[in-house]
Amino acid sequence: MQRIMKNDTVEVISGNDRGKRGRVLQVLPKKDRVLVEGVRYIWRHVRPSQQNPQGGRVQKESPIGASSVLPVCDSCERGVRVSFHGKGANKVRVCSRCGGPIARQD
Ligand SMILES: [Zn+2]
Repeated sequence: MQRIMKNDTVEVISGNDRGKRGRVLQVLPKKDRVLVEGVRYIWRHVRPSQQNPQGGRVQKESPIGASSVLPVCDSCERGVRVSFHGKGANKVRVCSRCGGPIARQD
């Protein structure tokens, strides 16, 4: 089970976007990175296509290191470290600060 999952709300704890919060759009486990909505905007230079006949520059999120973000606990209302409880299918993520569950958002 991963510490961070798609659709989690996470808080950025390092880098230029420190303190920002956003929703996880994509988890890239192999690269240990996550794509977070509204975080680390970069300009992408795109060729003209049918969707975008003009081409040109498009602003887009780029992935940041998974260790730079913390899931936000609803009760603590801040980014927290998580621990795991239970085994197998019953394994859940809990907030290591208040012990409350960190629910999966589908
Ligand atoms: Zn908590």
